[in-house]
Amino acid sequence: MGMNIAIDGPAGAGKSTIAKRAAKELGFLYVDTGAMYRTIALSLLRSGTDCEDEAALAGELDRMQIGMEYKDGEQRMLLNGENVTGLIRTEEVSRMASFSSAKPIVREKLLELQRKLARENDVLMDGRDIGTRILPDADLKIFLTASVEARAQRRYLEQTEKGEKCSLEEIKADIEDRDYRDIHRDTAPLIQAEDAVLIDSSDMTIEEVTERIVSLAKERA
Ligand code: C5P
Repeated sequence: MGMNIAIDGPAGAGKSTIAKRAAKELGFLYVDTGAMYRTIALSLLRSGTDCEDEAALAGELDRMQIGMEYKDGEQRMLLNGENVTGLIRTEEVSRMASFSSAKPIVREKLLELQRKLARENDVLMDGRDIGTRILPDADLKIFLTASVEARAQRRYLEQTEKGEKCSLEEIKADIEDRDYRDIHRDTAPLIQAEDAVLIDSSDMTIEEVTERIVSLAKERA
């Protein structure tokens, strides 16, 4: 078994950017589990499945094939063989992922895929329940967070840079909603593992956080 690093935390704390960079520096495989939940969400949106209808949800999950591949170090998501990597970052998919990921049956579908990747590779895996549930024996656990204001401000800048119109207040409300759902759900709620190192990135640069994680990883190796 390789070395496993778990990074959990709320949306917008910079997890994926930082995890990707740290994984590259360490020569680890970066596994973005949010992308897996997003792929399921896209499929449910396409088929118009109501997540509250358990039988329909179970049937849909049985039919869909979630696959992953790595191309030039980048994780690609495959839905029934189709590369959907570029289609899972919309607000609509974010919202659906936040609802559907609270369903135990959805989490069950991804559990083994995530554990298998960790068994077979040195991984740096990010998500919400990686340190608490998926990889409870991870060599290093990080809980990466930031204030709602800092996270909203970052997302606002990102979207305005892309030329998208958005409102800071709406972004903030959306982040608070998603946090609430992630923290208060019965299945795999977002909580810091007891043995996780807490990093608050509100006043840190991406480089500073990446360096911190890389040096912690080297200490544990
Ligand atoms: O991290 P990201 O924003 O891409 O995740 C999309 C959604 O998937 C989140 O809102 C969260 O509810 C869910 N998720 C999860 N468990 C994970 C990763 C993501 O429930 N390990």
